[in-house]
Amino acid sequence: MALVNLWRKVTLRERDRAHPSGEPIVEVSRVSMRYDRVVALEDVSFTVETGERIAIVGPNGAGKSTLLKIIAGVLTPTTGSVRIYGRGPGGHLCIAYIPQRNQVDWNFPLTVADVVMMGRIGKMGLLRHPGPRDWAIVRRALEQVGIADLADRPIRALSGGQQQRMFIARALAQEAELLLMDEPFTGLDRPAQEGILEILEHLRRQGVTILLATHDLEQAASHFDRVLLLNRRLIAFGPPDAVLTPGALRAAYGGHLRLIPVEGELVAVGDTCCEGG
Ligand code: ADP
Repeated sequence: MALVNLWRKVTLRERDRAHPSGEPIVEVSRVSMRYDRVVALEDVSFTVETGERIAIVGPNGAGKSTLLKIIAGVLTPTTGSVRIYGRGPGGHLCIAYIPQRNQVDWNFPLTVADVVMMGRIGKMGLLRHPGPRDWAIVRRALEQVGIADLADRPIRALSGGQQQRMFIARALAQEAELLLMDEPFTGLDRPAQEGILEILEHLRRQGVTILLATHDLEQAASHFDRVLLLNRRLIAFGPPDAVLTPGALRAAYGGHLRLIPVEGELVAVGDTCCEGG
């Protein structure tokens, strides 16, 4: 009898998780977020379709991290709602959230393979030991991001680019459909950034939807389908050309961004940036 109940629970849960066709992968409706006295987000609404790559840009304190955490289900908005394929973000195995690197305890005694295996927990259950299939998936994920040789390395001994690759491998092991990345390029040199962008291009071909917060407007313009310009409120959302206009940038950055004409184009120069950048 107990087994039948367990079977029922599992099949019902699986049915719950099936993604209805026609629903957007992300639907953010009138989300506001207040921390004590700070209003981090105000009345933000937008939808994202499966397979899109979205860059979230805006000045420091614009609410980019808060928005990603709310979509990931890590934070609950003060008002408004987030739907992932029509359901709240809790319990979705398809969401992978990669926090800013400075929010991770890199001294924790784990190897790269341990962290990537964590991506399998949702699929195999907390109490089960990883089987040969799980290890094969972890190995394949590490190969896909080019760090198979680092599997046994302690996470404290990784470079910034390798840390990002490890987290992307964890998302691959999880078989994530929605990847949320919070400033993955901060503090990385150009070759490391290019390496991550190449992997993201590969994920695009696999149909993975990506929402990524970044300070780099040029990268947002050249590598993403749509740009979401945020400063507590949603200032603009659409194709890069339509969003990264002088008016919208001024509205988002105010005096912290200057637009300088260079060879017939306007170049945005900011005075706020990111840690290490
Ligand atoms: P961004 O990622 O664009 O820099 P954040 O989402 O980190 O912006 O922060 C938005 C605003 O919310 C900022 O004013 C920040 O100081 C505030 N904030 C973020 N997290 C907290 C928190 N845990 N407690 C209080 N205020 C916070």
